[in-house]
Amino acid sequence: MAVIINGKELAQKVRLEQKEKVEKLKSRGINPKLAVIMVGNDKASEVYVRNKSKACDEVGIAFEEFLMPEDITEEKLLSLIEELNNRKDVHGILLQSPIPKHLDIRKAFNTIDYRKDVDGFHPINVGKLCIGEKSFVSCTPAGVMRMLEEYKIEVQGKRAVVIGRSNIVGKPLSQLLQNANATVTVCHSKTQDIEKIAKEADILVAALGKAKFVTANMVKQGAVVIDVGINRNEEGKLVGDVDFENVEPIASYITPVPGGVGPMTVAMLMANVVKATENL
Ligand code: NAP
Repeated sequence: MAVIINGKELAQKVRLEQKEKVEKLKSRGINPKLAVIMVGNDKASEVYVRNKSKACDEVGIAFEEFLMPEDITEEKLLSLIEELNNRKDVHGILLQSPIPKHLDIRKAFNTIDYRKDVDGFHPINVGKLCIGEKSFVSCTPAGVMRMLEEYKIEVQGKRAVVIGRSNIVGKPLSQLLQNANATVTVCHSKTQDIEKIAKEADILVAALGKAKFVTANMVKQGAVVIDVGINRNEEGKLVGDVDFENVEPIASYITPVPGGVGPMTVAMLMANVVKATENL
């Protein structure tokens, strides 16, 4: 029987910590503000942005939303980002992805001032993470590290396997685990013998977006299993990348979906906005 890592409860704790920091900032006349840019009307993005807005409300961070039309030109999008870079009252800038195909998302992310880059996507922040300097870290990986820390799960010297190498989850998380002195293997869609590699993990992270991909035969007895995936099963229910029912009896710790990594992402965004405000 594994310990179920309670992301919902921990996220609440992180939000409370941030609320206290925001109150201190406000007592000094500093009002943290997050600016969120959304282009077009992607339904999932609308839900994500609403959740971020609610979290800001709870923590006391001001929230300004910029809803841009689907056919916005790249020039206009970049000039909005520049304007927000220059605004003294805006401490964090977030461009909600996806954005329409005619826009170069990398160019847009790179235009955000790295000191306001609360998503941690700017190359300066990514580079700092790689060389182990303080930086803004992408919120989901930061949330996973906080979970490990909170549950006092030893990372140093452990064998970690991360399935998935995206720029927002797999890559930064594998770097963070390495920075914390784990020995890290990253698997992706071209990896061979993934079952064998996964089974060697003391800490196994599934971040690929395939329901029930991690089955019991891929998990070592006593492994820590972190499920980043968010998928919908045939009944429309939210499920992770791990076959929870069959893996949980083997693992020592496991994150559920929902209620695991998901809530941590927004909580860590709040922490990044507070950090951006304190830094400026
Ligand atoms: P992504 O950009 O689609 O990347 C998926 C990664 O998984 C890629 O590196 C891909 O390999 C790898 N992959 C795909 N199929 C594979 C397979 N059969 N075997 C091994 N590796 C495979 O996805 P993402 O943005 O990282 O998100 C991953 C999952 O996490 C999704 O379910 C997403 O919804 C969820 N997510 C959750 C949160 C949260 O807050 N909990 C936040 C972000 C994302 P290649 O590089 O070779 O293509």
